[in-house]
Amino acid sequence: MSTFAALWDSLLPIGRDPATGGYRRFCWTPAELECRAWFETTAAERQLRVAADGNGNLFAWWDVSNGGPAVATGSHLDSVPDGGAFDGPLGVISAFAAIDELRAAGFQPARPIVVAAFAEEEGGRFGVACLGSRLLTGAIDPDSARGLRDGAGITFADAMLAAGHDPAQLGPDDDLLGQLATYVELHVEQGRALAGLDAAVGLAEGIWPHGRWRLDFTGRADHAGTAKLADRADPMLPYAATVLAARQAATELGTLATIGKVLAEPGAANAVSSAVSAWLDVRAAGPGPLDATLDQVLTAARAAAESQQVAFEWKSESVTPAVSFDAELRGRLAAALAGQRIAAPVLPTGAGHDAGILAARLPTAMLFVRNPTGVSHSPAEHAEPADCAAGVTALAAVLRELAG
Ligand SMILES: [Zn+2]
Repeated sequence: MSTFAALWDSLLPIGRDPATGGYRRFCWTPAELECRAWFETTAAERQLRVAADGNGNLFAWWDVSNGGPAVATGSHLDSVPDGGAFDGPLGVISAFAAIDELRAAGFQPARPIVVAAFAEEEGGRFGVACLGSRLLTGAIDPDSARGLRDGAGITFADAMLAAGHDPAQLGPDDDLLGQLATYVELHVEQGRALAGLDAAVGLAEGIWPHGRWRLDFTGRADHAGTAKLADRADPMLPYAATVLAARQAATELGTLATIGKVLAEPGAANAVSSAVSAWLDVRAAGPGPLDATLDQVLTAARAAAESQQVAFEWKSESVTPAVSFDAELRGRLAAALAGQRIAAPVLPTGAGHDAGILAARLPTAMLFVRNPTGVSHSPAEHAEPADCAAGVTALAAVLRELAG
């Protein structure tokens, strides 16, 4: 069995919901702590030195004496609710497997290689995507991170403390960043561009600007059997209109807008809701269409709420500007891959990644592995074993180029 297959099989059962087949690896929950233990064991088996930073990000170091700053690679181990097996773990597993390949070939790095697993990349528990890398780079204030709450009201600080990590240590770490020369993240493609190109791997051009907004509609709870329609202040109605408005705005403006999370209070089948909260996700090729989409959705939400005597409030939870990955680094990777006869087309993406956050502080690049259906954030997410193997070979070539 290849080392990739063995690593894949060892991580696969952790945090999988038997009913849906999807993953629930939320930051600081038992399933995610088991993923962290897997990371530490996997690193120890390879004599890699594991060090967590103050933000709960994990690093496994292949140390080299007097080697200068390291080549970092990796991804994340947390998941969205009922996420697929590949989003995140593919990059971490491929990193360990690429190190195995390099060692089997007798490669001696001239500079350290470090495998990273960033915390709360999906924002699946505390709402802010790429929280670990944002904290590391200073893109989010540690106090606001400590105060973020999950659906049960538990703060990030308390969850971290319960998992044995000191939340007082949260915050930017310039020392650690200074030890990293580059970061190359391998990730399953979250789209179908490669499927049409006859290429197993691609290189990322950049990441679309994107953001998440919380929309709160507050009405009045009432009896579903006795309250007359005209007397109701039903927040479900403007919420529903907003879902449709988001689709319409995205269609008109050539963007992506999604409402994928909704909470209704009190959540009774025989009652008019008192409040509905929904989360809007917008992604676009540029900041203009992004803002236009948000404006159009908010205008529609406001009008629909007003017409139903429902209060409407909204707030931004995270907004990430467009990211262009380092062109020189990408060129170097493309040349190294071409030298191995690996064709790697350059692709844009609407998905956010830690590499996009780290790009503010160091040259970063991304390798995508073909996803035949393009489906992601779903148990149906997939990549063929041969394409995963091609990804490991490509990543090994990249590490050889950057750390040789
Ligand atoms: Zn991911």
